[in-house]
Amino acid sequence: MSELPIDLLAVSMLSPLLAPRLQASFTVHDRLHELDPAAFRLVAPRIRAIAAGGESRVSAELIGQLPALELIAVMGVGYDGIDVAAAKSRGIQVTHTPGVLNDEVADLTLGLMLSAARQIPAADRYVRDGKWASQGAMPLTRKMSGARLGIVGMGRIGQGIARRAVAFEMVISYTARSAKADLPWRFFETPEELAAASDFLVVITPGGNDTRHLINAAVLNALGPEGILVNVARGSVVDEEALITALETGRLGGAALDVFATEPHVPERLRLLPHVILTPHIGSATAQTRQSMADLTFGNLEAYFAGKPLLTPVPECRF
Ligand code: NAP
Repeated sequence: MSELPIDLLAVSMLSPLLAPRLQASFTVHDRLHELDPAAFRLVAPRIRAIAAGGESRVSAELIGQLPALELIAVMGVGYDGIDVAAAKSRGIQVTHTPGVLNDEVADLTLGLMLSAARQIPAADRYVRDGKWASQGAMPLTRKMSGARLGIVGMGRIGQGIARRAVAFEMVISYTARSAKADLPWRFFETPEELAAASDFLVVITPGGNDTRHLINAAVLNALGPEGILVNVARGSVVDEEALITALETGRLGGAALDVFATEPHVPERLRLLPHVILTPHIGSATAQTRQSMADLTFGNLEAYFAGKPLLTPVPECRF
């Protein structure tokens, strides 16, 4: 690490697993751009690094206010909130934390699929509300083992989901930008064709403009009244209005959602639907995995300012 203290802007609340290490090595300006714009204007010319989270926004405008910026380190694999093109045009590096959270997100996905199919949260409420004693057995649910699973996005996490689904003897198909010759599962060109051949449709692509509303009304109609949508990617990938309408009208069987269009706000219409499973963007949220993500984020910052190669630059910034 360089001799002089390096000024770093934290653009969102820092994880307690990362904050102490950053504070020991950098001069950390915690969300100064939002909390104290006048003070921010004074330190902005000195800021050489940004620490961001997977849901943080780093706009071209913010980058433009930071003439000394060299590195944006994201604690998360998704970096759709970062204007990478603006960073790249200035030669600013961007890093993220791929790989270390695959297991966690894949585990949660299988949990969401089972929760939606077997209605585990509703079953828990059924017992707590005394309905088991007053009304008898709960209505029957649906079987997951052996069902058809479609995965939209067959990258690091998508493959982890598929491997787990093999243990459930599911019939696995997928779509992605390109077919994977080394994978044994059937490839469909479009999400709509995939949905028509699936009982469960899991979405695990990056967010951003390229995937915005990839899951639209036509895809949801193809999944159909018995189908279950699971979104662990980004809220932007699913047309949330179309999803709510499909669920309300029974054109879609159910959904399990970890991500939403305007987090942390979840539309009331969605919250009122009884057979929808909702979790607050907890895909990677265990102590063990967040520690690994914090370590990798710090490792990238440390490597950069020690003049060593970055550990995990985003693909667009491998220069
Ligand atoms: P990855 O390895 O880069 O895989 C992304 C996959 O999406 C690839 O298979 C890619 O296709 C596919 N894809 C990209 N654009 C597409 C498009 N327009 N249409 C169809 N498929 C497309 O990424 P990862 O590590 O698996 O992570 C995926 C995403 O999960 C992250 O970017 C993040 O948004 C989300 N995530 C969410 C949580 C959570 O807490 N819920 C946690 C971690 C990650 P190709 O293989 O053909 O390029």
